[in-house]
Amino acid sequence: MIPRSGSGARGDDDLDAILHLDPRIQPGQSAREIALVKGVLRWQGFLEETGGSEGRSEDLFDLEAAEAIGRYQEFYDLDVTRRFNPPTIRSLTIRRCALTPLSVRGVGDQCLEKRSYACRIVGGETFRKGAALAIHAWNSALREARIPVGFNVVATGEGAEVLVATEGPGSFPDSSWGRADLPSGCPDLDHRERRAVLNSASGWSVSGSGGTTFSALYGYLHELGHVLGLGDICSSRSVMCNSVRNAIRNPAKADIDRIGELYS
Ligand SMILES: [Zn+2]
Repeated sequence: MIPRSGSGARGDDDLDAILHLDPRIQPGQSAREIALVKGVLRWQGFLEETGGSEGRSEDLFDLEAAEAIGRYQEFYDLDVTRRFNPPTIRSLTIRRCALTPLSVRGVGDQCLEKRSYACRIVGGETFRKGAALAIHAWNSALREARIPVGFNVVATGEGAEVLVATEGPGSFPDSSWGRADLPSGCPDLDHRERRAVLNSASGWSVSGSGGTTFSALYGYLHELGHVLGLGDICSSRSVMCNSVRNAIRNPAKADIDRIGELYS
């Protein structure tokens, strides 16, 4: 489960309201959209939770928020200005994977084992196709790199370690499109399924189409990357960018290299 901050859940309306922010705003000035921006920055780990912030206005574009915007721009390959501009404002409204990018940089504990993880795929046709393609893409790339890790699909009823599925918007308290359980616990010890799930309320097709639907293939590539132990990163052609990249259908070399380091 994803820890929730006190900054409140963000619905789609909250994210879209950020589009009304005047990009010319400067530190020291206030706007009500700044409170929404701060919520996004905190959720994603770019701005620290404010303990005892009495007397501070959430609407104020303060220096901490400006620095956080700079870190945000750096992470998402935007011009690092520490100020707002239309690309930064648009980016802040994009739906993300529910794992927070900066709080999870991957894991490297004793629970990572070189072997094939049993997956059970559940869902409608679009999701099942996307999941099957994502599993195939991971397995092919890992095999080619001679990394003895991967996924095998098992039928309903057989013991599965990873549930690849969809869930309704009720289990996504923010407006994110998917999430996964990282291998922080040892599944062999507690017999608990890890999950790679997509939000069924978002628009999905197998490989995405234009700007209207997300690629279920990318969604599952990304979430299965978390299951393998990877954190979010928005570099090169990584499948671990937490905004959906419909054009990407295979893990990048950098993704496979990171898996190789985790399981070495
Ligand atoms: Zn993610």
